[in-house]
Amino acid sequence: MMDAATPIRFALAEIEVAMLEDGGFCIFCGEPSDNPVEPDARGYRCGACARHGVYGAEELLLMDLVD
Ligand SMILES: [Zn+2]
Repeated sequence: MMDAATPIRFALAEIEVAMLEDGGFCIFCGEPSDNPVEPDARGYRCGACARHGVYGAEELLLMDLVD
């Protein structure tokens, strides 16, 4: 389990795929969103960890969480 205060980082390749598929990821647990989200989605509820950490792919780029 990651420390909730430390958002995890994402690989550019997975973000690129997510951008094509309206995908998003949880910044707390790293799981992809169960449902399509808007590219600028912020703080949606995560189906995996139940925290409000799901962000759209473009938003993750803007937040500088992508390597
Ligand atoms: Zn999560």
